Amino acid sequence: MAIEDLIASVPTGLWIGGEERQATSTFDVLDPSDDQVLAAVADATAADAVAALDAACAVQAEWAATAPRKRGEILRSVFEKITERADDIAALMTLEMGKVVAESKGEVAYGAEFFRWFSEEAVRIAGRYTPAPAGTGRILVTKQAVGPCYAITPWNFPLAMGTRKMGPAFAAGCTMIVKPAQETPLTMLLLAKLMDEAGLPKGVLSVLPTSNPGAVSTALIDDGRLRKLTFTGSTGVGKALVKQSADKLLRTSMELGGNAPFIVFDDADVDAAVDGAILAKMRNGGEACTAANRFHVANSVREEFTEKLVKRMSEFTLGKGIDPASTLGPLVNSKQVATVTELVSDAVSKGATVAVGGVAPGGPGNFYPATVLADVPADARILKEEIFGPVAPITGFDTEDEGVAAANNTEYGLAAYVYTQSLDRALRVADRIESGMVGINRGVISDAAAPFGGIKESGFGREGGSEGIEEYLDTKYIALTN
Ligand code: NAD
Repeated sequence: MAIEDLIASVPTGLWIGGEERQATSTFDVLDPSDDQVLAAVADATAADAVAALDAACAVQAEWAATAPRKRGEILRSVFEKITERADDIAALMTLEMGKVVAESKGEVAYGAEFFRWFSEEAVRIAGRYTPAPAGTGRILVTKQAVGPCYAITPWNFPLAMGTRKMGPAFAAGCTMIVKPAQETPLTMLLLAKLMDEAGLPKGVLSVLPTSNPGAVSTALIDDGRLRKLTFTGSTGVGKALVKQSADKLLRTSMELGGNAPFIVFDDADVDAAVDGAILAKMRNGGEACTAANRFHVANSVREEFTEKLVKRMSEFTLGKGIDPASTLGPLVNSKQVATVTELVSDAVSKGATVAVGGVAPGGPGNFYPATVLADVPADARILKEEIFGPVAPITGFDTEDEGVAAANNTEYGLAAYVYTQSLDRALRVADRIESGMVGINRGVISDAAAPFGGIKESGFGREGGSEGIEEYLDTKYIALTN
Protein backbone atom coordinates (compact mmCIF):
# COMPACT_ATOMS: atom_id res chain seq x y z
CA MET A 1 0.00 0.00 0.00
CA ALA A 2 1.27 3.51 -0.77
CA ILE A 3 2.37 5.37 2.36
CA GLU A 4 -0.32 8.09 2.08
CA ASP A 5 -3.04 5.43 1.66
CA LEU A 6 -1.64 3.43 4.56
CA ILE A 7 -1.70 6.42 6.91
CA ALA A 8 -5.17 7.39 5.71
CA SER A 9 -6.40 3.85 6.53
CA VAL A 10 -5.38 4.09 10.21
CA PRO A 11 -8.05 5.20 12.68
CA THR A 12 -6.82 8.41 14.29
CA GLY A 13 -9.69 8.80 16.76
CA LEU A 14 -9.99 7.20 20.19
CA TRP A 15 -10.87 3.50 19.99
CA ILE A 16 -13.56 2.98 22.61
CA GLY A 17 -16.01 0.12 22.75
CA GLY A 18 -14.97 -1.16 19.32
CA GLU A 19 -15.60 2.15 17.60
CA GLU A 20 -13.65 5.20 16.62
CA ARG A 21 -14.60 8.32 18.57
CA GLN A 22 -13.40 11.84 18.02
CA ALA A 23 -11.81 13.80 20.85
CA THR A 24 -11.90 17.48 21.69
CA SER A 25 -8.25 17.91 20.67
CA THR A 26 -5.44 16.12 18.84
CA PHE A 27 -1.67 15.76 19.08
CA ASP A 28 0.87 15.20 16.32
CA VAL A 29 2.75 11.98 15.64
CA LEU A 30 6.15 12.66 14.05
CA ASP A 31 8.39 10.68 11.71
CA PRO A 32 11.75 10.43 13.56
CA SER A 33 13.66 10.36 10.28
CA ASP A 34 12.72 13.97 9.43
CA ASP A 35 10.49 15.21 12.28
CA GLN A 36 7.63 15.79 9.82
CA VAL A 37 4.05 15.28 11.02
CA LEU A 38 2.66 11.88 10.02
CA ALA A 39 -0.79 12.26 11.53
CA ALA A 40 -2.81 14.17 14.12
CA VAL A 41 -4.25 11.71 16.63
CA ALA A 42 -7.13 12.14 19.08
CA ASP A 43 -5.94 13.18 22.54
CA ALA A 44 -7.75 11.20 25.26
CA THR A 45 -8.79 12.88 28.50
CA ALA A 46 -9.70 11.49 31.91
CA ALA A 47 -13.38 11.46 30.85
CA ASP A 48 -12.51 9.35 27.78
CA ALA A 49 -10.67 6.92 30.07
CA VAL A 50 -13.81 6.49 32.17
CA ALA A 51 -15.85 5.92 28.99
CA ALA A 52 -13.39 3.18 27.94
CA LEU A 53 -13.68 1.57 31.37
CA ASP A 54 -17.49 1.76 31.15
CA ALA A 55 -17.25 -0.12 27.82
CA ALA A 56 -14.88 -2.73 29.32
CA CYS A 57 -17.04 -3.29 32.40
CA ALA A 58 -20.17 -3.65 30.25
CA VAL A 59 -18.75 -6.71 28.46
CA GLN A 60 -16.35 -8.11 31.08
CA ALA A 61 -18.67 -10.79 32.49
CA GLU A 62 -19.81 -11.95 29.05
CA TRP A 63 -16.26 -12.11 27.71
CA ALA A 64 -15.04 -14.08 30.75
CA ALA A 65 -17.94 -16.49 30.24
CA THR A 66 -17.24 -16.91 26.50
CA ALA A 67 -16.06 -20.45 25.80
CA PRO A 68 -12.26 -20.65 26.00
CA ARG A 69 -12.23 -22.35 22.59
CA LYS A 70 -14.10 -19.38 21.12
CA ARG A 71 -11.72 -16.90 22.74
CA GLY A 72 -8.82 -18.93 21.37
CA GLU A 73 -10.28 -18.95 17.88
CA ILE A 74 -10.70 -15.19 17.88
CA LEU A 75 -7.06 -14.79 18.96
CA ARG A 76 -5.97 -17.15 16.20
CA SER A 77 -7.90 -15.04 13.65
CA VAL A 78 -6.12 -11.95 14.95
CA PHE A 79 -2.78 -13.74 14.45
CA GLU A 80 -3.77 -14.49 10.86
CA LYS A 81 -5.01 -10.98 10.21
CA ILE A 82 -1.74 -9.45 11.45
CA THR A 83 0.26 -11.91 9.37
CA GLU A 84 -1.75 -11.00 6.23
CA ARG A 85 -1.14 -7.31 6.85
CA ALA A 86 2.48 -7.72 8.00
CA ASP A 87 3.97 -5.43 5.35
CA ASP A 88 1.56 -2.57 6.08
CA ILE A 89 1.98 -2.84 9.84
CA ALA A 90 5.77 -2.95 9.47
CA ALA A 91 5.83 0.12 7.23
CA LEU A 92 3.59 2.04 9.62
CA MET A 93 5.75 1.10 12.59
CA THR A 94 8.90 2.21 10.78
CA LEU A 95 7.30 5.55 9.92
CA GLU A 96 6.33 6.38 13.49
CA MET A 97 9.20 4.73 15.37
CA GLY A 98 12.15 4.95 12.98
CA LYS A 99 13.69 1.45 12.92
CA VAL A 100 14.45 -0.18 9.58
CA VAL A 101 11.68 -2.15 7.87
CA ALA A 102 13.46 -5.49 8.38
CA GLU A 103 13.38 -4.85 12.14
CA SER A 104 9.71 -3.86 11.98
CA LYS A 105 8.89 -7.06 10.08
CA GLY A 106 10.67 -9.03 12.79
CA GLU A 107 8.56 -7.29 15.40
CA VAL A 108 5.33 -7.98 13.49
CA ALA A 109 6.15 -11.72 13.44
CA TYR A 110 7.11 -11.66 17.13
CA GLY A 111 4.11 -9.54 18.13
CA ALA A 112 1.62 -11.70 16.20
CA GLU A 113 3.02 -14.82 17.82
CA PHE A 114 1.55 -13.80 21.19
CA PHE A 115 -1.93 -14.21 19.72
CA ARG A 116 -1.10 -17.63 18.26
CA TRP A 117 0.61 -18.82 21.45
CA PHE A 118 -2.16 -17.59 23.76
CA SER A 119 -4.89 -18.85 21.41
CA GLU A 120 -3.45 -22.25 22.35
CA GLU A 121 -3.19 -21.42 26.07
CA ALA A 122 -6.81 -20.16 26.33
CA VAL A 123 -8.06 -23.77 26.41
CA ARG A 124 -5.52 -24.90 29.02
CA ILE A 125 -6.60 -22.86 32.03
CA ALA A 126 -6.70 -25.62 34.61
CA GLY A 127 -7.49 -25.89 38.31
CA ARG A 128 -7.02 -28.76 40.80
CA TYR A 129 -8.98 -31.03 43.05
CA THR A 130 -7.49 -32.77 46.08
CA PRO A 131 -8.66 -34.36 49.31
CA ALA A 132 -7.82 -32.29 52.41
CA PRO A 133 -4.89 -33.99 54.22
CA ALA A 134 -6.89 -34.23 57.48
CA GLY A 135 -9.66 -36.07 55.66
CA THR A 136 -12.08 -33.34 56.64
CA GLY A 137 -13.10 -32.21 53.20
CA ARG A 138 -12.07 -31.61 49.63
CA ILE A 139 -10.16 -28.75 48.05
CA LEU A 140 -11.19 -27.38 44.68
CA VAL A 141 -9.02 -24.70 43.07
CA THR A 142 -10.21 -22.75 40.03
CA LYS A 143 -8.85 -19.86 37.99
CA GLN A 144 -10.89 -16.83 37.02
CA ALA A 145 -10.25 -13.81 34.84
CA VAL A 146 -8.87 -10.92 36.88
CA GLY A 147 -11.28 -8.43 35.25
CA PRO A 148 -10.74 -5.12 33.44
CA CYS A 149 -7.03 -4.41 32.90
CA TYR A 150 -5.13 -1.28 31.96
CA ALA A 151 -1.98 -1.62 29.83
CA ILE A 152 0.59 1.14 29.34
CA THR A 153 3.16 0.49 26.61
CA PRO A 154 6.41 2.13 25.43
CA TRP A 155 7.36 3.38 21.96
CA ASN A 156 10.26 1.01 21.23
CA PHE A 157 8.13 -1.98 20.18
CA PRO A 158 4.83 -0.30 19.23
CA LEU A 159 3.08 -3.61 18.43
CA ALA A 160 4.70 -6.36 20.48
CA MET A 161 4.71 -4.59 23.86
CA GLY A 162 0.91 -4.41 23.49
CA THR A 163 0.28 -7.89 22.06
CA ARG A 164 2.39 -9.46 24.83
CA LYS A 165 -0.24 -8.13 27.25
CA MET A 166 -3.39 -8.45 25.10
CA GLY A 167 -2.78 -12.08 24.07
CA PRO A 168 -2.76 -13.49 27.63
CA ALA A 169 -5.39 -11.03 28.92
CA PHE A 170 -7.91 -11.93 26.23
CA ALA A 171 -7.09 -15.64 26.47
CA ALA A 172 -7.82 -15.46 30.22
CA GLY A 173 -11.12 -13.64 29.65
CA CYS A 174 -10.06 -10.14 30.71
CA THR A 175 -10.96 -6.90 28.95
CA MET A 176 -8.20 -4.35 28.37
CA ILE A 177 -7.66 -0.65 27.83
CA VAL A 178 -4.35 0.08 26.14
CA LYS A 179 -2.56 3.41 26.36
CA PRO A 180 0.18 3.36 23.72
CA ALA A 181 3.18 5.68 23.99
CA GLN A 182 2.40 9.11 22.56
CA GLU A 183 5.32 8.77 20.08
CA THR A 184 3.81 5.63 18.45
CA PRO A 185 0.01 5.31 18.76
CA LEU A 186 -0.70 4.54 15.08
CA THR A 187 0.37 0.88 15.12
CA MET A 188 -1.89 0.13 18.10
CA LEU A 189 -4.84 1.97 16.53
CA LEU A 190 -4.45 -0.04 13.30
CA LEU A 191 -4.25 -3.22 15.38
CA ALA A 192 -7.50 -2.30 17.18
CA LYS A 193 -9.24 -2.02 13.81
CA LEU A 194 -7.82 -5.36 12.64
CA MET A 195 -8.91 -7.04 15.87
CA ASP A 196 -12.42 -5.71 15.36
CA GLU A 197 -12.41 -7.16 11.83
CA ALA A 198 -11.14 -10.47 13.25
CA GLY A 199 -14.22 -10.70 15.49
CA LEU A 200 -13.06 -9.43 18.90
CA PRO A 201 -16.30 -8.39 20.64
CA LYS A 202 -16.73 -4.65 20.98
CA GLY A 203 -15.65 -3.27 24.32
CA VAL A 204 -13.09 -6.02 25.03
CA LEU A 205 -10.35 -3.68 23.76
CA SER A 206 -10.12 0.09 23.91
CA VAL A 207 -7.11 2.15 22.82
CA LEU A 208 -6.50 5.60 24.27
CA PRO A 209 -3.75 7.66 22.66
CA THR A 210 -3.00 10.70 24.80
CA SER A 211 -0.46 13.43 25.34
CA ASN A 212 -1.41 13.41 29.03
CA PRO A 213 -0.66 9.89 30.30
CA GLY A 214 -0.82 10.99 33.95
CA ALA A 215 -4.44 12.21 33.79
CA VAL A 216 -5.71 9.22 31.80
CA SER A 217 -3.88 6.75 34.04
CA THR A 218 -4.99 8.37 37.28
CA ALA A 219 -8.64 8.27 36.18
CA LEU A 220 -8.37 4.53 35.56
CA ILE A 221 -6.16 3.58 38.52
CA ASP A 222 -8.37 5.47 40.98
CA ASP A 223 -11.61 4.02 39.59
CA GLY A 224 -12.58 1.09 41.81
CA ARG A 225 -13.67 -1.00 38.80
CA LEU A 226 -10.17 -1.51 37.39
CA ARG A 227 -8.53 -4.73 38.58
CA LYS A 228 -5.05 -4.75 37.09
CA LEU A 229 -2.33 -2.47 35.77
CA THR A 230 0.31 -3.89 33.44
CA PHE A 231 3.13 -1.54 32.49
CA THR A 232 6.13 -1.69 30.18
CA GLY A 233 8.44 1.30 30.29
CA SER A 234 11.07 3.00 32.36
CA THR A 235 11.84 2.03 35.95
CA GLY A 236 11.09 5.55 37.22
CA VAL A 237 7.56 5.65 35.81
CA GLY A 238 7.00 2.02 36.86
CA LYS A 239 7.86 2.79 40.49
CA ALA A 240 5.48 5.76 40.51
CA LEU A 241 2.69 3.62 39.06
CA VAL A 242 3.21 0.86 41.66
CA LYS A 243 2.88 3.49 44.40
CA GLN A 244 -0.21 4.94 42.74
CA SER A 245 -1.80 1.49 42.40
CA ALA A 246 -1.34 0.74 46.08
CA ASP A 247 -4.42 2.70 47.07
CA LYS A 248 -6.74 0.28 45.29
CA LEU A 249 -4.33 -2.67 45.76
CA LEU A 250 -4.37 -3.36 42.04
CA ARG A 251 -2.59 -6.39 40.70
CA THR A 252 0.44 -5.08 38.83
CA SER A 253 2.97 -6.40 36.33
CA MET A 254 6.06 -4.31 35.69
CA GLU A 255 8.35 -4.79 32.67
CA LEU A 256 10.90 -2.08 33.30
CA GLY A 257 14.33 -0.91 32.21
CA GLY A 258 17.39 -3.07 31.69
CA ASN A 259 21.18 -2.87 31.66
CA ALA A 260 22.06 -6.22 30.11
CA PRO A 261 25.66 -7.44 30.45
CA PHE A 262 27.16 -9.36 27.52
CA ILE A 263 29.95 -11.52 28.96
CA VAL A 264 32.55 -13.11 26.71
CA PHE A 265 34.74 -15.65 28.53
CA ASP A 266 38.26 -16.64 27.47
CA ASP A 267 36.97 -20.01 26.17
CA ALA A 268 34.28 -18.44 23.93
CA ASP A 269 34.05 -18.85 20.18
CA VAL A 270 34.90 -15.21 19.45
CA ASP A 271 33.33 -15.13 15.97
CA ALA A 272 30.07 -16.51 17.38
CA ALA A 273 30.27 -13.96 20.19
CA VAL A 274 30.63 -11.12 17.66
CA ASP A 275 27.61 -12.42 15.69
CA GLY A 276 25.64 -12.57 18.95
CA ALA A 277 26.88 -9.12 19.99
CA ILE A 278 25.57 -7.58 16.77
CA LEU A 279 22.14 -9.10 17.41
CA ALA A 280 22.05 -8.30 21.11
CA LYS A 281 23.25 -4.72 20.59
CA MET A 282 21.74 -3.72 17.26
CA ARG A 283 18.33 -5.37 17.34
CA ASN A 284 15.78 -2.55 17.19
CA GLY A 285 18.65 -0.10 16.57
CA GLY A 286 19.79 -0.59 20.16
CA GLU A 287 16.45 0.67 21.50
CA ALA A 288 15.48 -2.50 23.35
CA CYS A 289 15.18 -3.18 27.08
CA THR A 290 17.05 -6.45 26.43
CA ALA A 291 19.81 -4.72 24.42
CA ALA A 292 23.35 -5.61 25.46
CA ASN A 293 24.24 -2.44 27.33
CA ARG A 294 27.84 -3.29 28.25
CA PHE A 295 30.35 -5.83 26.97
CA HIS A 296 32.48 -7.51 29.64
CA VAL A 297 35.18 -9.33 27.70
CA ALA A 298 37.95 -11.57 29.11
CA ASN A 299 41.20 -9.65 28.70
CA SER A 300 42.84 -12.55 26.80
CA VAL A 301 40.31 -12.22 23.92
CA ARG A 302 39.34 -8.55 24.30
CA GLU A 303 41.51 -7.18 21.49
CA GLU A 304 40.33 -9.80 18.99
CA PHE A 305 36.67 -9.30 20.00
CA THR A 306 36.97 -5.49 19.79
CA GLU A 307 38.60 -5.55 16.33
CA LYS A 308 36.00 -7.91 14.92
CA LEU A 309 33.09 -6.02 16.49
CA VAL A 310 34.40 -2.69 15.16
CA LYS A 311 34.57 -4.15 11.65
CA ARG A 312 30.97 -5.36 11.82
CA MET A 313 29.66 -2.14 13.42
CA SER A 314 31.32 -0.04 10.69
CA GLU A 315 29.27 -1.92 8.08
CA PHE A 316 25.91 -0.41 9.18
CA THR A 317 24.29 2.04 6.77
CA LEU A 318 22.54 4.85 8.61
CA GLY A 319 19.42 6.19 6.88
CA LYS A 320 15.65 6.46 6.88
CA GLY A 321 14.14 3.21 8.13
CA ILE A 322 11.73 3.08 5.20
CA ASP A 323 14.63 3.13 2.69
CA PRO A 324 15.55 -0.53 1.90
CA ALA A 325 19.26 0.41 1.68
CA SER A 326 19.34 1.45 5.37
CA THR A 327 20.43 -1.06 8.00
CA LEU A 328 20.20 1.40 10.91
CA GLY A 329 17.39 3.93 11.27
CA PRO A 330 17.11 7.07 13.41
CA LEU A 331 16.53 7.09 17.16
CA VAL A 332 12.99 7.90 18.23
CA ASN A 333 13.53 11.61 18.97
CA SER A 334 16.10 14.32 19.63
CA LYS A 335 15.97 13.70 23.38
CA GLN A 336 17.22 10.16 22.79
CA VAL A 337 20.06 11.45 20.58
CA ALA A 338 21.01 13.91 23.34
CA THR A 339 21.03 11.14 25.99
CA VAL A 340 23.26 8.86 23.89
CA THR A 341 25.58 11.76 23.03
CA GLU A 342 25.91 12.65 26.71
CA LEU A 343 26.69 9.07 27.77
CA VAL A 344 29.38 8.76 25.07
CA SER A 345 31.04 12.05 26.01
CA ASP A 346 31.02 11.12 29.70
CA ALA A 347 32.78 7.81 28.89
CA VAL A 348 35.32 9.54 26.64
CA SER A 349 36.03 12.22 29.26
CA LYS A 350 36.83 9.40 31.71
CA GLY A 351 39.26 7.66 29.35
CA ALA A 352 37.26 5.52 26.87
CA THR A 353 38.33 5.46 23.21
CA VAL A 354 35.90 5.80 20.29
CA ALA A 355 36.81 2.89 17.99
CA VAL A 356 34.08 3.67 15.44
CA GLY A 357 31.15 6.13 15.22
CA GLY A 358 30.63 8.40 18.20
CA VAL A 359 29.34 11.54 16.47
CA ALA A 360 25.70 12.32 15.66
CA PRO A 361 25.52 13.63 12.08
CA GLY A 362 22.93 16.31 13.00
CA GLY A 363 19.51 17.04 11.47
CA PRO A 364 17.20 16.62 9.77
CA GLY A 365 16.14 13.50 11.66
CA ASN A 366 17.41 11.94 14.86
CA PHE A 367 20.33 9.87 13.68
CA TYR A 368 23.18 8.33 15.67
CA PRO A 369 25.78 5.99 14.09
CA ALA A 370 26.79 2.48 15.17
CA THR A 371 29.50 3.11 17.76
CA VAL A 372 32.07 1.06 19.67
CA LEU A 373 33.79 2.42 22.77
CA ALA A 374 36.94 0.58 23.88
CA ASP A 375 38.65 0.59 27.30
CA VAL A 376 35.61 1.97 29.07
CA PRO A 377 36.46 2.68 32.73
CA ALA A 378 34.31 1.25 35.51
CA ASP A 379 33.05 4.67 36.63
CA ALA A 380 31.62 5.63 33.23
CA ARG A 381 27.87 6.32 33.38
CA ILE A 382 27.35 4.31 30.18
CA LEU A 383 28.03 1.07 32.10
CA LYS A 384 25.36 1.93 34.68
CA GLU A 385 22.59 3.63 32.71
CA GLU A 386 20.39 2.32 29.93
CA ILE A 387 21.85 3.57 26.61
CA PHE A 388 18.91 2.89 24.29
CA GLY A 389 21.06 3.50 21.23
CA PRO A 390 23.57 1.76 18.92
CA VAL A 391 26.60 2.11 21.21
CA ALA A 392 28.68 -0.84 22.42
CA PRO A 393 30.96 -0.05 25.41
CA ILE A 394 33.67 -2.67 25.99
CA THR A 395 35.46 -3.31 29.26
CA GLY A 396 37.75 -6.15 30.38
CA PHE A 397 37.98 -8.69 33.21
CA ASP A 398 40.35 -11.48 34.22
CA THR A 399 38.69 -14.20 36.30
CA GLU A 400 35.21 -15.75 36.13
CA ASP A 401 34.38 -14.27 39.54
CA GLU A 402 35.35 -10.80 38.33
CA GLY A 403 33.23 -11.19 35.20
CA VAL A 404 30.18 -12.25 37.19
CA ALA A 405 30.67 -9.53 39.80
CA ALA A 406 30.94 -6.86 37.09
CA ALA A 407 27.81 -8.20 35.36
CA ASN A 408 25.83 -8.08 38.61
CA ASN A 409 27.00 -4.58 39.51
CA THR A 410 23.70 -2.94 38.60
CA GLU A 411 20.31 -2.31 40.15
CA TYR A 412 18.71 -3.78 37.01
CA GLY A 413 18.11 -7.48 36.32
CA LEU A 414 16.33 -8.09 33.03
CA ALA A 415 18.52 -9.93 30.50
CA ALA A 416 22.13 -11.15 30.36
CA TYR A 417 24.20 -12.84 27.64
CA VAL A 418 27.01 -15.31 28.26
CA TYR A 419 29.48 -16.67 25.70
CA THR A 420 31.55 -19.73 26.68
CA GLN A 421 32.12 -23.16 25.16
CA SER A 422 32.00 -24.85 28.55
CA LEU A 423 28.59 -26.23 29.53
CA ASP A 424 29.62 -26.32 33.19
CA ARG A 425 30.64 -22.70 33.14
CA ALA A 426 27.52 -21.67 31.20
CA LEU A 427 25.20 -23.22 33.78
CA ARG A 428 27.29 -22.08 36.74
CA VAL A 429 27.34 -18.48 35.51
CA ALA A 430 23.65 -18.54 34.50
CA ASP A 431 22.83 -19.53 38.09
CA ARG A 432 24.90 -16.68 39.52
CA ILE A 433 23.73 -13.91 37.17
CA GLU A 434 21.08 -11.73 38.77
CA SER A 435 18.59 -11.41 35.92
CA GLY A 436 15.25 -12.82 34.87
CA MET A 437 16.64 -14.11 31.54
CA VAL A 438 20.03 -15.42 30.40
CA GLY A 439 21.05 -16.14 26.81
CA ILE A 440 23.81 -18.73 26.45
CA ASN A 441 25.76 -18.36 23.22
CA ARG A 442 22.89 -16.50 21.59
CA GLY A 443 22.14 -12.84 21.14
CA VAL A 444 18.33 -12.90 20.89
CA ILE A 445 16.27 -14.52 23.61
CA SER A 446 12.69 -13.24 23.14
CA ASP A 447 10.17 -15.99 22.39
CA ALA A 448 6.39 -15.93 22.88
CA ALA A 449 6.66 -19.43 24.36
CA ALA A 450 9.13 -18.35 27.08
CA PRO A 451 8.56 -16.29 30.25
CA PHE A 452 9.89 -12.78 29.63
CA GLY A 453 10.58 -10.53 32.61
CA GLY A 454 13.01 -9.17 35.13
CA ILE A 455 14.08 -9.10 38.75
CA LYS A 456 15.54 -6.32 40.92
CA GLU A 457 14.62 -2.89 39.53
CA SER A 458 13.72 -4.38 36.14
CA GLY A 459 10.35 -5.26 37.62
CA PHE A 460 8.21 -8.30 38.27
CA GLY A 461 5.70 -10.47 36.47
CA ARG A 462 6.21 -12.54 33.32
CA GLU A 463 4.92 -12.15 29.77
CA GLY A 464 4.77 -15.11 27.39
CA GLY A 465 5.17 -18.81 28.09
CA SER A 466 2.69 -20.75 30.17
CA GLU A 467 3.48 -18.29 32.98
CA GLY A 468 2.15 -15.29 31.04
CA ILE A 469 -1.54 -16.09 31.40
CA GLU A 470 -1.24 -16.41 35.20
CA GLU A 471 -0.80 -12.62 35.38
CA TYR A 472 -4.42 -12.33 34.24
CA LEU A 473 -5.95 -15.05 36.41
CA ASP A 474 -7.06 -15.01 40.03
CA THR A 475 -6.96 -18.22 42.04
CA LYS A 476 -10.16 -19.23 43.81
CA TYR A 477 -10.33 -21.93 46.50
CA ILE A 478 -13.68 -23.65 46.95
CA ALA A 479 -13.90 -25.71 50.15
CA LEU A 480 -16.07 -28.83 49.85
CA THR A 481 -17.28 -31.36 52.38
CA ASN A 482 -16.60 -35.05 51.92
P1 NAD B 1 8.49 5.70 29.68
O1 NAD B 1 8.47 5.11 31.03
O2 NAD B 1 8.86 7.12 29.53
O3 NAD B 1 7.06 5.55 29.00
C1 NAD B 1 6.41 4.32 28.93
C2 NAD B 1 4.92 4.56 28.90
O4 NAD B 1 4.54 5.18 30.13
C3 NAD B 1 4.45 5.48 27.79
O5 NAD B 1 3.23 5.00 27.30
C4 NAD B 1 4.23 6.79 28.52
O6 NAD B 1 3.25 7.60 27.92
C5 NAD B 1 3.75 6.29 29.86
N1 NAD B 1 3.87 7.25 30.95
C6 NAD B 1 4.83 8.19 31.14
N2 NAD B 1 4.57 8.88 32.27
C7 NAD B 1 3.45 8.35 32.81
C8 NAD B 1 2.67 8.62 33.98
N3 NAD B 1 3.01 9.58 34.83
N4 NAD B 1 1.58 7.87 34.22
C9 NAD B 1 1.24 6.88 33.38
N5 NAD B 1 1.90 6.59 32.25
C10 NAD B 1 3.00 7.31 31.98
O7 NAD B 1 9.41 4.76 28.82
P2 NAD B 1 9.75 4.87 27.27
O8 NAD B 1 10.80 5.89 27.10
O9 NAD B 1 8.51 4.99 26.44
O10 NAD B 1 10.30 3.41 26.98
C11 NAD B 1 11.60 3.06 27.23
C12 NAD B 1 11.71 2.32 28.53
O11 NAD B 1 10.89 1.16 28.50
C13 NAD B 1 13.10 1.81 28.77
O12 NAD B 1 13.47 2.01 30.11
C14 NAD B 1 13.01 0.33 28.45
O13 NAD B 1 13.97 -0.45 29.05
C15 NAD B 1 11.64 0.02 28.92
N6 NAD B 1 11.16 -1.21 28.28
C16 NAD B 1 11.07 -2.33 29.05
C17 NAD B 1 10.66 -3.51 28.47
C18 NAD B 1 10.56 -4.76 29.29
O14 NAD B 1 9.89 -5.67 28.86
N7 NAD B 1 11.15 -4.84 30.45
C19 NAD B 1 10.34 -3.56 27.12
C20 NAD B 1 10.45 -2.39 26.37
C21 NAD B 1 10.86 -1.21 26.98
